[in-house]
Amino acid sequence: MALKRPIIFVGPPGAGKGTQARRLAEFYGVPHLSTGEMLRDHVARGTELGQRAKPLMERGELVPDDIVLGIVEERIARADCASSFVFDGFPRTMPQAQTLDEILKRRNFRSPLVVNFKVDHDTLVYRIAGRRTCSIGGEVYNVHERPPKVEGRCDKDGGELIQRSDDRAEVVRDRLAAFDRQTMPLVDYYRSTGDLAEVDGSADVEEVSKRLSEILARHGADGNRA
Ligand code: AMP
Repeated sequence: MALKRPIIFVGPPGAGKGTQARRLAEFYGVPHLSTGEMLRDHVARGTELGQRAKPLMERGELVPDDIVLGIVEERIARADCASSFVFDGFPRTMPQAQTLDEILKRRNFRSPLVVNFKVDHDTLVYRIAGRRTCSIGGEVYNVHERPPKVEGRCDKDGGELIQRSDDRAEVVRDRLAAFDRQTMPLVDYYRSTGDLAEVDGSADVEEVSKRLSEILARHGADGNRA
């Protein structure tokens, strides 16, 4: 199995990007690059960068581009990113998208395939309220739609399942607003400059996975079927 192009998942919080990015990355044996997870790791370790990011993340605002781009540049320079990777939650602003284009060109990657996850607002709010995240490996569950086998514990590593502090209802509103204001313009940007596909993210996990593999094959990203 070979992933032939970098993949970018764009969509509001709760659209299923993280769940699908994990599955896809595991399937192809490439890194799953979630800037949200990388930032939460910095916050948990109390690094200087984490201390700058923490108050913004707690308010549901975006972290400044220079911080996020620094993390991403450093990450994709590592050996495991040599063939390809799946971005989840990055880029989220126009400057991030433009800088990513330059980085990918400089590193001789093929143009990315961008998938826009479309989900209506009420479904997002319902999903995020039920979301629980493994405190060890970051695996994502949902008490309504995808509960763990044992309540409160991750099926994979037994880690405690927690609610992310920014998944609280009052913060979710601001995260959705940040998406509409800062990230939605990327959809038009990629529609005009790149290769954009859309998926209905409100279907169940298996169905969305199936549709994604069809999209990857159609857009020359799947090494076996392209
Ligand atoms: P996520 O896990 O993708 O929902 O991200 C959680 C939080 O991390 C976001 O609400 C932002 O505060 C921050 N964050 C993650 N990715 C980015 C990004 N690409 N640009 C700016 N902030 C980000």
